[in-house]
Amino acid sequence: MYESDKVINFYDLTYEQLEKLLTAWGFPRFRAKQVWTWAYQQKVSDFQAMTNLPKNMRAQLSERMMLGNLTLVTERHSRDGTIKRLYRLPDDQYIESVLMVYDDGRRTACISTQAGCAMGCVFCATGQMGFARHLTAGEIVEQALHFARLLEAEGERLSNIVLMGMGEPLHNYEATLQAIKRFIATDGLGIGQRHITLSSVGLVPAIRRFADEGLQVGLAISLHAANDADRSALLPVNKRWPLQDLMDACTYYVQKTNRRVTFEWALIHEQTDHVHQAEELGQLLQGLLCHVNVIPLNPTEGFAGQPSDPERVQAFIDTLSRYGISSSVRVRRGIDIEAGCGQLKAKILSQQGFVQLDDIS
Ligand code: SAH
Ligand code: SF4
Repeated sequence: MYESDKVINFYDLTYEQLEKLLTAWGFPRFRAKQVWTWAYQQKVSDFQAMTNLPKNMRAQLSERMMLGNLTLVTERHSRDGTIKRLYRLPDDQYIESVLMVYDDGRRTACISTQAGCAMGCVFCATGQMGFARHLTAGEIVEQALHFARLLEAEGERLSNIVLMGMGEPLHNYEATLQAIKRFIATDGLGIGQRHITLSSVGLVPAIRRFADEGLQVGLAISLHAANDADRSALLPVNKRWPLQDLMDACTYYVQKTNRRVTFEWALIHEQTDHVHQAEELGQLLQGLLCHVNVIPLNPTEGFAGQPSDPERVQAFIDTLSRYGISSSVRVRRGIDIEAGCGQLKAKILSQQGFVQLDDIS
């Protein structure tokens, strides 16, 4: 639990922890249920709004707890409906969340799990910043809650969550798991497990552990290359857990959950978009229950690569389909508002000049 000025962040607490805390402070047990309902069902943003609590209790809660600790710094709206938010944390770290709006009614929140990232993938804006710290469960939950609140005010509902924002969720395992439990709980955000996707760069032991949690959460793996030499050049983590270990862990995930794994592949012009690479990928994935998401690269400051053009994208997915691999091209949403992972933070902070990117790593 991260504590700022010794004030507890409410969203870090499990229901059991809240009950314990409130009874230790001298309140009857049933008050926990009331507070929980106000926070997660009514989604109020202030203890003072919990009007069926005695006044002195509301005052005490306000004094001893924070109902969240994210401060909104910037919000940008894209032409395609995407909303991107930059938040400041109490220790002056910055994180991003994105809300994507789809024609089929889905409302998907893309949530960060760390401030920065330690994995150093060369084409990723977050990777280029380096690692600052893990987020707490509360800080992860609160990002989703903000969007749920926003949508509910408009008579809509947050339907999906993807853990694909800044950071590597499986590097911050416990907090991420706690947050997922809060997302899916019926007295939490009530989001179906199958509507949640965790994206990982491939931390093999953690993938196996996650497979054993008995959840039905979707797993996406950032693959980007189908041989060890290419993959290690883009994703340093591949040197620690090479492809064969990763594929074994993915097979294990499919066996345990009966869910297909999604593989993400950034298409970098003339670097990861060759037909022979699609063939290699097709061979690697033979026999595995899976789907491939190709994403034309979002160009970033620290990496020279460019996105593939539509013809090369098409040739790549046509090749995959010859191998019987289903794939889709992920439309780059919010491209006009720096909605790629870590990009808004990089842009805003460098413009305002109050944090040098070097300071973050
Ligand atoms: N750390 C996790 C989740 C966050 S990144 C992971 O790596 O999977 C979410 C996805 O965006 C990953 O598939 C990542 O490889 C991809 N990504 C990062 N930077 C990108 C860029 N510049 N262009 C396209 N995709 C990118
Ligand atoms: Fe971290 Fe994912 Fe970016 Fe790699 S792609 S640096 S794991 S956030």
